[in-house]
Amino acid sequence: MPGNRYHARWVLPITSPPIRDGWVEIVDGLVTAIGASKSIGSFVSSSVDLSDAIIMPGVVNAHTHLELSGLRGSIPRAASMPEWVRAVMSARRSLSSPSGGRLSDAASECQGSGTVLVGDIANTLESLDTFLAESIEATLFHEFLGFDVEADEAETLIEPSARHIAERVNGRVQVRAAAHAPYSVSAELFRAIGRLAGPRSVHLAESEEEVEFLMSGQGPWRDILEERGRMSCEWVPPRVRPVDYLESVGWLREDTIVVHGVQLIDDEIDRLVEAGSTLVVCPRSNDWTGAGVAPIAKCYARGLRVAIGTDSLASAPDLNIFREMTEVRRLAPDVPASKILQSATIVGAQGLGRGRSHGAIEPGRRAALIRVELPTGISDVEEYLLSGIESTCIQWLEDIDVG
Ligand SMILES: [Zn+2]
Repeated sequence: MPGNRYHARWVLPITSPPIRDGWVEIVDGLVTAIGASKSIGSFVSSSVDLSDAIIMPGVVNAHTHLELSGLRGSIPRAASMPEWVRAVMSARRSLSSPSGGRLSDAASECQGSGTVLVGDIANTLESLDTFLAESIEATLFHEFLGFDVEADEAETLIEPSARHIAERVNGRVQVRAAAHAPYSVSAELFRAIGRLAGPRSVHLAESEEEVEFLMSGQGPWRDILEERGRMSCEWVPPRVRPVDYLESVGWLREDTIVVHGVQLIDDEIDRLVEAGSTLVVCPRSNDWTGAGVAPIAKCYARGLRVAIGTDSLASAPDLNIFREMTEVRRLAPDVPASKILQSATIVGAQGLGRGRSHGAIEPGRRAALIRVELPTGISDVEEYLLSGIESTCIQWLEDIDVG
């Protein structure tokens, strides 16, 4: 079947160095070849010159909650995470549905800013139909909460999710499960979710109050559980830090995605590295919720697999991963730009269980590629991509009219 060969000033395969004056050959939605301008083509019918542009894989937003899109701009910046969560809980009560009918808009916004795949956290499977109708791809994490959930109840609770996971839905949308956080999910519920097929996701080591709760059983998270009648009087605090806790419930695994990691200490980072887990950083959200600043530079330096997420529109101004990368660059100025780009592509795709098809330009992979406009005079294209690329400068290759 004939295809197209797209030429551009730069091609970023991600898993190998950038190619100046490169091209990508696409046949039937798959990359069939990649090379530099002088290489000879094969059976390609049209050649498309994108000139001053960068061709790269669509980016991966490894952690968001599109379901909370109705809360955009309505939750003020908070001094602490529990304070922010209280504001979200009260705002959610005033909405008939948390997404406020904005799910499709949010999915389009992701796609418009070059995102091919999202790791989306959903408290209900309501968004499944939206994803099935949109062209964006998703690993949809059905998220569970319940600090007072016991073993039997846990199995019943996760049953619908287990059914969807077994059905796999379709190639573009996969359902998986998530535990909200150690202060909102019982150990029994963690274990039950952990028995389902991975990847699995959890907010971990986000706030200092979470560490306080695990270590002493006290603090603002306990207050919130008590107010909501979810605190069991028999519960004994584990008196361990977050990564120890993760291990105790059987979640310290290669196919576990831990989100935020603001409070991680060196030893915890090393243990996540050893386990092969993926950390998703969402630095703009951490700033807005009052959680603090994640040790991102240190995580890269110690060899942790770092992916990038925007988190929800309740704590981030937009769903543009390129803008999130700008914040990662600011917090980790010495990390090579290529590593940060890998975080936003292949590492995110691998974390979401799609590392074979997404996140890089290689023969045999999905050709979900974007063209990013390249202004004149840019000498370092990788660094340029961290400067906060706006959606107006991004176009999907498949949307380009090749005549
Ligand atoms: Zn989140």
